[in-house]
Amino acid sequence: MSAPLAAPSDPVVGIDFGGSSIKAGAVDVAAGRVIGELVSVPTPSPSSPAAVAAAIGELARQLPQCRGPIGFAYPGVVRTNVAHTAANVDKGWIGTDGAALIRTATGRPGAFLNDADAAGLAEMRLGAGRGVRGTAMMLTFGTGIGSALFVDGELWPNTELGHLEMAGRRGEAEHHASARVRAELKLDFPAWVARVNDVLAEFDRLFWPELVIVGGGVSERWDEFGPLLKSHARLAPAQLRAQAGVVGAAFHAHEKAARG
Ligand code: BGC
Repeated sequence: MSAPLAAPSDPVVGIDFGGSSIKAGAVDVAAGRVIGELVSVPTPSPSSPAAVAAAIGELARQLPQCRGPIGFAYPGVVRTNVAHTAANVDKGWIGTDGAALIRTATGRPGAFLNDADAAGLAEMRLGAGRGVRGTAMMLTFGTGIGSALFVDGELWPNTELGHLEMAGRRGEAEHHASARVRAELKLDFPAWVARVNDVLAEFDRLFWPELVIVGGGVSERWDEFGPLLKSHARLAPAQLRAQAGVVGAAFHAHEKAARG
């Protein structure tokens, strides 16, 4: 997972399946950046595999400059292209082969991975985690809390720390401090950050990360809440912002295609 960046090649589609929208971009995998703007569609409700497959087909048509494989970042556990959980999406995803779904929707090869793992891969290669050794953690705050854990740049996939039961009976981390909880409870930044600090303290206690990268849409407002966060780790906002999942998904698809 820490292979050098790819040689120049055709742009690769990366897609990020989020709770409110499904975003896609044409990624120059050699430079590690999105060419032009991201395109998106609202997440269908219910977010069933068939409905999302139709959205993937539509997004791929909006990026005609890309003809190769498609990478897809999924908000749940993914092993060898198969979804195993569906905490915040339609339960019909459990057991779905994401690569086969992409093939059916677009006629092109697909690669499937967890959304936070995708964002983390992009940040470790190109963003806030570039060159970082030791234990680094990427957290994405959105509908849930996604996690990606890296040791010396190598990913431990599917860590699912958003579902960690917090000490003191505060429930799962993501039910305590996701961005959705902030919106639903109308928490201001100090009130939400107090909850995020509970989560960071729990992760500090159990994993002792040296770096925690804070991502998800809310990271765009880092200036307002970043200074209030507390951790033993160094804290940094995601540098690729809303594009991290898209870029990481494209890396994954490109590398899978290169391996054959
Ligand atoms: C899912 C994770 C995902 C995270 C962010 C959690 O509910 O279980 O797999 O990474 O939400 O989308």
